[in-house]
Amino acid sequence: MTDAPAAATALVLATHNPHKVDELRRILGADLGSLELVVYNGPEPIEDGVTFAENALIKARAAAVHTGLAALADDSGIAVDALGGAPGIHSARYAGTRRSEDNVALLLERMRGVQDRRAVFVCAAAAVLPDGSEHVEVAEWPGEVLEQPAGGGGFGYDPVFRPDGLAVSSAEISAAEKDAISHRRQAFSALLPWLRERLG
Ligand code: IMP
Repeated sequence: MTDAPAAATALVLATHNPHKVDELRRILGADLGSLELVVYNGPEPIEDGVTFAENALIKARAAAVHTGLAALADDSGIAVDALGGAPGIHSARYAGTRRSEDNVALLLERMRGVQDRRAVFVCAAAAVLPDGSEHVEVAEWPGEVLEQPAGGGGFGYDPVFRPDGLAVSSAEISAAEKDAISHRRQAFSALLPWLRERLG
């Protein structure tokens, strides 16, 4: 009798950000079929990439190597035109404290009096499989930085980001509305066909 390769039963999600976990469970839920999504709790790699894509791959590789499972990772943030793309890959630690309120306050301070308020939320969605194959997709959600925070939904910079085509911030729309159009939705939707082809 030959041993058939074991079918994948779980995907490990390489993030400790509970908001991302919630969004990704909602976004991916129906598409994962019987695959269980488990949150990675092993050692954190050093995110020393210089792009969202590199950092997403670094996180997914670490989780795949440590668990032996197929791994998914999200690296994301906000890139503001008038700030030369900052805070970009440094979005989570922009103010040095990792607290969203501090990051938002610093962004508003830097944007005080600035006319050009164009910005994009960026998400890199990476997958790394136990055999070492990997893939990454990057998506942008364009909009502008508001003058002051509005809304209590979402997380991070959502209260100060008004997506194009909406009159309100991404913290004022429902979770379902955000999930339908966000950078995270777009990046993971683009990643899914690659994953499905390999995991069945
Ligand atoms: P990461 O965990 O290093 O990828 O950091 C992502 C950071 O970017 C978060 O901590 C937020 O500050 C910001 N960010 C990413 N996605 C979103 C979003 O959907 N809404 C608001 N802020 C976001």
